Amino acid sequence: MIPLCDLSQQYLSHKDEIDQAMISVAQHGQYILGPNVAALEREIADYCQCKYAVGVNSGTDALHLALMALGIGPGDEVITTPFTFVATTEAIGLVGATPVFVDINPLTFNIDPDLIEAAITSRTRAILPVHLYGRPCDMEAIVGTAACHGLEIVEDCAQAIGASYHGRKVGSFGTAGCLSFFPSKNLGCFGDGGMFVTNDPQLYERVEILRRHGGKVKYHHSTLGLNSRLDELQATILHVKLKYLDEWNAARRRAADRYDELLANDDGVKTPMRVASGHIDDTWSVYHQYTIRVSDRASLESDLVAAGIGYGIYYPVPLHLQEVHRSLGHREGAFPAAEAAARQCLSLPMFPELTPAQQQQVAECVHQAVAAAASGCAA
Ligand SMILES: *Cc1c(COP(=O)(O)O)cnc(C)c1O
Repeated sequence: MIPLCDLSQQYLSHKDEIDQAMISVAQHGQYILGPNVAALEREIADYCQCKYAVGVNSGTDALHLALMALGIGPGDEVITTPFTFVATTEAIGLVGATPVFVDINPLTFNIDPDLIEAAITSRTRAILPVHLYGRPCDMEAIVGTAACHGLEIVEDCAQAIGASYHGRKVGSFGTAGCLSFFPSKNLGCFGDGGMFVTNDPQLYERVEILRRHGGKVKYHHSTLGLNSRLDELQATILHVKLKYLDEWNAARRRAADRYDELLANDDGVKTPMRVASGHIDDTWSVYHQYTIRVSDRASLESDLVAAGIGYGIYYPVPLHLQEVHRSLGHREGAFPAAEAAARQCLSLPMFPELTPAQQQQVAECVHQAVAAAASGCAA
């Protein structure tokens, strides 16, 4: 049995340190917006090469609060990818704005920067790129387009903490960056958690107030906010785990290298794009997922199930075809690259402790399934 992701190993290998940290929060008694959240905000801001950070309830709330703080609302349009988790467009919809989709680059699975220009209208306020699977988007192109049209950039870094592009960390390119500490993310806590990062002092002030019911002074409320604070307990766990994040991300990258080698000779498998070419060079992915493409995904899925190997389909239905966005009026065929990715993508087991022997087993299963599909017989 090889899981897609194994969260217990991280805890067990740092158990004493994490347990001690949790006990100390229980004992100091300051459970909401205490010293641990403040300290973690400083650490994460530094880590992400940003000036400010605000600890919030989830990655979804970080996105929601970023758009609220930017004053984006009804009548405004936000450009994003149809191939992402629903939280991305949920945040856009919750502020009353309209998501405008731009298709992905099939090689990177990320928004295709060359197609953004054509989607810009007089109502466009922001671009919301998602660094999917831990791979940075082409930020040079996106920053250039945004600057030309006076647009904000809100980066969805939920899957990409620690990833960098041209040597700079994701989250530091745009107006704001949004992180998730959902347990299975590269830096995960023991529940929900998220963070907003920015270099803009005014935006920082606004989000800091919005997360605490819209008031700077207790029981004095200047604006309609949310109850969206990162817990002290989660913050102390994250403080312990942050020290190991670079090590864990490096281990993910080594595991990705091994998969690349193991699967190199399988013609029916497209491994994640690696080769530097054009403007997709110099991206440092943190491999939140290792996602391959296969044409006959169903047969690979049943072989993986039979072999006891975990896998994920991120995501089976692109957002423009989701019921929640039916009112946008998109049809099948509107974003063909995203639709093809949704049919063909499959994420293999990926976590820092994944062993070469486990990967060998995964690769053998993939190899057999793909060979059987090619020869036309069910495995
Ligand atoms: C996980 C995720 C989110 C939301 O994060 P939560 O902390 O679960 O709310 C947003 N966008 C993407 C791309 C994600 O993967």
